[in-house]
Amino acid sequence: MPLTRARAALKSVFGYDDFRPGQDEVIGAVLSGEDVLAVMPTGSGKSMCYQLPAVVDGGLTVVVSPLIALMRDQVQQMGHVGVSAATLNSSNGDEANRETLRRIRAGEVSLLFVSPERLAGDGLVSLLAASKVKRLAIDEAHCVSQWGHDFRPEYRQLASVREALGQVQVVALTATADAATRGDIVSQLFPRPPRVVVHSFDRPNIHLRFEAKERPRAQIEDFLTRHKGDSGIIYAGSRDKTEKLADWLTGKGIRSVAYHAGLDPAVRARHQDIFLQEDGVVVVATIAFGMGINKPDVRFVVHADMPSGVEAYYQEIGRAGRDGLPADTLTLYGIEDIAFRRRQIDDKAISEAQRRVEQRRLSAMIDLAESATCRRQTLLAYFGEQRGPCGACDLCQGGAELVDATIDAQKVLSAVARTGQRYGAAHLVDILRGEATDTIQRQGHDQIKTFGVGTDKSAHIWRTIIRQLFAAGALAEASEEHGGFRLTEQGDAIMRGRETIALRKVKDAPARRARMSST
Ligand code: ADP
Ligand code: ZN
Repeated sequence: MPLTRARAALKSVFGYDDFRPGQDEVIGAVLSGEDVLAVMPTGSGKSMCYQLPAVVDGGLTVVVSPLIALMRDQVQQMGHVGVSAATLNSSNGDEANRETLRRIRAGEVSLLFVSPERLAGDGLVSLLAASKVKRLAIDEAHCVSQWGHDFRPEYRQLASVREALGQVQVVALTATADAATRGDIVSQLFPRPPRVVVHSFDRPNIHLRFEAKERPRAQIEDFLTRHKGDSGIIYAGSRDKTEKLADWLTGKGIRSVAYHAGLDPAVRARHQDIFLQEDGVVVVATIAFGMGINKPDVRFVVHADMPSGVEAYYQEIGRAGRDGLPADTLTLYGIEDIAFRRRQIDDKAISEAQRRVEQRRLSAMIDLAESATCRRQTLLAYFGEQRGPCGACDLCQGGAELVDATIDAQKVLSAVARTGQRYGAAHLVDILRGEATDTIQRQGHDQIKTFGVGTDKSAHIWRTIIRQLFAAGALAEASEEHGGFRLTEQGDAIMRGRETIALRKVKDAPARRARMSST
């Protein structure tokens, strides 16, 4: 009964009373010798899935991990519970590395943590092969996939490492894997299909909320008033923006630091320490921040810009509420975000097949943002979990309703068509609302049939409709420079009455005149 022994060791060695959900299945499979791909959310205790088997049935487990800091933490933790672990990396110094190699040869090491490049580097694999590796555990396994959001080319070499090690069991772990990434992991890391264990991605303590960008700073400020004194993370799309937002927050009396890959390493490390060690600090960061950050009491995560995809979104909000207490999230998104992300994909030097995968991934993110039904349901469906409405997200709590918007859409689309398919939202709104501005008169756009057909709705509502049409793919960017729109095939079909479109019903403008701006 391997699991009974495992449970006993979980208690006696690690001091935990029982498995976390999903751990028992993975650990049971690992102990019975199966190759396993475990897809489990961040914080669910994936490390235990190779730590405990190493303790229970001995032998050497090689753990591949992308971050030196993470490896060090784990070696230290293993030291505390009396499990023999070591790392090999360049920052250890030759002396220490030689001693580690000696211990490995002498069979004194249970868990060896290495980076993929180190493992693939010269000599190590043959040395390890001679020392009889029992198991290869690959952490953050999604890094092997170009389709994942965290691709690391060094992971590609792990297949040959695995072969060179002989008959080793492979255990791959990740917190992110949509179908495409999962398929990639299976085909690249395993000699034959592994047992795949997917544990629920639901994090019921995390509240989900999306808002269209209207006045982003005001929206963030409003959100933060509900989180005075809380630790939190604000993700922003660019390095520059993280610094500006951090300064702005500091000016508002909120302790905050910026974090991005362009900062001096010492400054970056200091900012990270401030966030980890002090209470109530807000870190404003790019996506460079987070992997391996284990701060249990992060109370909120804000996305000042729309994430690149649902996995990234999920991982980032997942850094909140690891202690299981209520945590709050807010994601802002706007036309610029959607346009920016679409352009990013267009500009990438990738195969067409891959481009389509990325486009699908982005569409899923946009669909989540523009969703009219339970946010959590949509999110979990993305990870292959079916369930009913949660009753607790922004949409369940009085959110959106889908209504047929074909006539409004036709008004917008015809304004686009009649002005030569190159104007942006502001100009289109002026036409719809019948505002005879200088530009409109100069272009003669007060003469077209669509001029003034939309006086029944506020500018805010029209902008929201335009954004939704863009998000839904009825409008596309006319050119990169101008931020104007053109009709897509779908847009043309709607305009001509061959297709209908349902959009979210929008509440009217916020008190002050809303501006489409970015933070
Ligand atoms: P992940 O890699 O999935 O993000 P970790 O492996 O870092 O998560 O584990 C998160 C935390 O959960 C760690 O502090 C770990 O010690 C703890 N943990 C793991 N398994 C258990 C368990 N069965 N019971 C209680 N705590 C656990
Ligand atoms: Zn819901």
